Amino acid sequence: MAEKKSKPVSVVTGGAGFLGSHLIDRLLSEGHRVIAIDNLVTGNPANIGHLAGNKDFHFVKHNVSNFIFLPNEKIDYVFHFASPASPIDYLELPIPTLKVGALGTHNTLGLAKDKKATFILASTSECYGDPLVHPQKEDYWGNVNPIGPRGVYDEAKRFAEAMTMAYHRYHKVDTRIVRIFNTYGPRMRLRDGRVVPAFIGQALSGKPLSVFGDGSQTRSFCYVADLIDGIFKLAMSDFHEPVNIGNPREMTIKQFAEEIIRITGARSTIDYKPLPVDDPQVRQPDISRAKKVLGWEPKVRFEEGIKKTIEYFRNALKGAGSN
Ligand code: UDP
Repeated sequence: MAEKKSKPVSVVTGGAGFLGSHLIDRLLSEGHRVIAIDNLVTGNPANIGHLAGNKDFHFVKHNVSNFIFLPNEKIDYVFHFASPASPIDYLELPIPTLKVGALGTHNTLGLAKDKKATFILASTSECYGDPLVHPQKEDYWGNVNPIGPRGVYDEAKRFAEAMTMAYHRYHKVDTRIVRIFNTYGPRMRLRDGRVVPAFIGQALSGKPLSVFGDGSQTRSFCYVADLIDGIFKLAMSDFHEPVNIGNPREMTIKQFAEEIIRITGARSTIDYKPLPVDDPQVRQPDISRAKKVLGWEPKVRFEEGIKKTIEYFRNALKGAGSN
């Protein structure tokens, strides 16, 4: 009993999501007790199914845009990871996306303040919008269209960063901000519309790969285990300014499609579709701050990470792939 009391306790909002569930696995392996909160709008209970019966894990179904009630709980860390995160999701859920970035951040910061916990905000490379500086460093303020279709996500996260810094400066809450760049790996939703599940799903079913625009736009993909390692190190640091976590290995979307066709051995062709509004033309993290402050850099090679991800989707497709 005494041992249990001494374990650090972490709250993870969005705990049934892709990143949230991997973060929970890491926290449990580091000896934390974890309370996951998720309203399951885009999260999937299957991502945390393996934790059923784990005495250090507790799940609460709740929308964190509403007041979070956790009386009598000692809490050491609050990780705010809840949000629709794929462009298709936040186009379908524009108001919940704005609310969880704004009201959800306010509520989770309030929880952290009340519990004297460390607060970690999952922010995003979308804060840089369609960037005019390349690669993106944390001191770049971004190029975001506030009223475009992506504005609901980008501006909610920018507001969330502003709110986090205000709680840090005014209420002295111990805060962190991680700007997450494109991440891939097992537990992404097959049909979430993001390029990694889209291309792998299409390749594995022998369909053409849907490249938007001419495919010359770039992204830099980080394997989930690397990302979670960076986030954990940031949480354990004492650094309050935003930190980019991502893999600087940049490629065009057309190159990415060709790699997926090559690695899966699919016979798929490429089908060019219209480019979505405000789709960033380039994206690559400058990770010198993470290297210097956290001693972190990604380790998993693209070929290795993508093979694990393809394997995951192969199994998901076999299991009917209902999500
Ligand atoms: N994309 C694509 N085909 C798809 C899905 C996405 O060509 O089926 C492109 C999209 O236009 C963007 C990039 O891939 O340039 C990454 O898109 P994603 O939705 O994964 O996330 P984003 O980085 O835009 O937030």
